[in-house]
Amino acid sequence: MSKKLYFGTNLKMYKNIADTVSFLNDLTAYTEDLGREEIELFVIPSYTSLPDAVKIERRHLVHLGAQNMGWEDQGQFTGEISPLMLKELRLDLVMIGHSERRHTFRETDYEENLKVLSALSHGFTALLCIGETEQEKEFGVSEEVLRSQIKIGLHGVTADQLGKVWIAYEPVWSIGVNGTPATPEYAAHMHKMMRETMVSLFGDAGAEVPLLYGGSVNPGNAESLIVLPNVDGLFVGRAAWNAEAFNTLIRKSAAACAAKA
Ligand code: PEP
Repeated sequence: MSKKLYFGTNLKMYKNIADTVSFLNDLTAYTEDLGREEIELFVIPSYTSLPDAVKIERRHLVHLGAQNMGWEDQGQFTGEISPLMLKELRLDLVMIGHSERRHTFRETDYEENLKVLSALSHGFTALLCIGETEQEKEFGVSEEVLRSQIKIGLHGVTADQLGKVWIAYEPVWSIGVNGTPATPEYAAHMHKMMRETMVSLFGDAGAEVPLLYGGSVNPGNAESLIVLPNVDGLFVGRAAWNAEAFNTLIRKSAAACAAKA
């Protein structure tokens, strides 16, 4: 049997409200026939697009998430968005610790952990993003970095809550216009290590947590990445922002997995 697959995109600080709604309408129309038991699809728009995004016609076909979240329910936190505010929109997931949050906005593992715990306690799926920088890779500490991002990020998460945790491995050096995609060999090695870390922390439940790869995924490399044993999904940036192209990437990836099963 083919594994369950996860495909998603973070729209970052791109697409206004109208463009987001049109993207979601197109994507859900293109992918309507794909069984959601086998394929989970998610899109993470800007905050300002969310109130309109949640009203799209085929809302049930796509999980919608926020790009970040403050960990307190309310208080003197100017500029932050609380879990209660996101709950009002009936969102499904919250992305935590994207590389741009960690490196441009200097978020720490400790803060990501507070956000993970808060998101889970409010019933969201927590999509924890991890990844080593180019420099950490050169120093040969990539594995230590990923392990500690997982251990600190998920500190205090119970085995019961684990069913709502997804992890995206996005090497910082692989993300964005200047990124180089990880080779399938490199991604396979890191995903195996991540799986082992999850099992050592959570036992059998750790084997079930979806591990997604992200970082310059494109039509040329998606199939070779999705078929890897510990890769459950692809978290795609630029190559997903055209709905038709994303639909093609999803279908080709799913077909590659089915052929391998
Ligand atoms: C990202 O920013 O999370 C990402 C995966 O972007 P891209 O695919 O464009 O490298």
